[in-house]
Amino acid sequence: MTTVEKNLVQTEEVSGLEGKVVVVTGSSKGIGATIAKELAKQGAKVVVNYNSSAAGAEKVVGEIEELGGTAVAVKANVSNLEDAKSLIEQTIAHFGKVDVLVNNAGITRDKTFKKMDEKAWNEVINTNLNSVYHTTSAVINPMLEQKFGRIINISSIVGQAGAFGQTNYAASKAGIIGFTKSLALETAKNGVTVNAVCPGYILTEMTAEIPENVMEAIVSKIPMKRMGTTQEIAEAVIFLAKADYITGQCINVNGGVYM
Ligand code: NAP
Repeated sequence: MTTVEKNLVQTEEVSGLEGKVVVVTGSSKGIGATIAKELAKQGAKVVVNYNSSAAGAEKVVGEIEELGGTAVAVKANVSNLEDAKSLIEQTIAHFGKVDVLVNNAGITRDKTFKKMDEKAWNEVINTNLNSVYHTTSAVINPMLEQKFGRIINISSIVGQAGAFGQTNYAASKAGIIGFTKSLALETAKNGVTVNAVCPGYILTEMTAEIPENVMEAIVSKIPMKRMGTTQEIAEAVIFLAKADYITGQCINVNGGVYM
């Protein structure tokens, strides 16, 4: 085999996700719950992380098991470093490794900047951005040692385009994009890819909080004239979990509203 041919050999065959161990933060409902279920359908063993919705997480685990899959629910507040470390340690103790980390947990605390108190700012930065540091720092050495890892961060269109009343949320989601590109550079040669998915407006409890008239105005500006589904985000995550030659990218799943 020539050197050129050797360099073309993938770091690992990843045609499916059979036997891969996946952690999905904030997967007790919404986008995270669908990602967890869809990854399990691909053969992955899934850790369903939650903070407050224990019943939601157990429901997701039950649905995965009904389909013959493997999953466990683990409570951890990923805005807290020790909790996040414990989430990864419990995963490794239970399943032996972590192959795919999906940093999905997120919240909103919307206010115009004039009313943006430190609490609303810090809660969002801690939950959406610092959590990504917390979980990733716990998982990065084992991934580098096993020479395989997929880190998939759920950012947002708001981190790219901004949104009225969301300076805290936009900063957290833009931070995720910068983090993704920088870490991708550091880990590429060791088989660890780092990518982001930027959803547009997706039907979940988070967007249910947006007043109807505001939502109508948003949808009217989406070229596809509809909101996205959690399934459509999960499909992008599966694509990135299986891909080998894609890193440092941000995949937009937004109906064409931001290009
Ligand atoms: P959601 O329905 O409100 O669900 C949020 C999930 O995050 C829940 O499972 C929640 O778990 C978990 N979570 C919140 N704080 C946590 C913490 N400290 N530790 C662990 N888990 C925590 O939200 P979603 O719409 O599915 O959003 C999921 C992700 O997609 C978020 O990062 C969001 O910013 C992003 N996103 C959403 C949209 C959209 O239109 N919906 C658009 C772009 C990006 P508990 O209930 O157990 O606390």
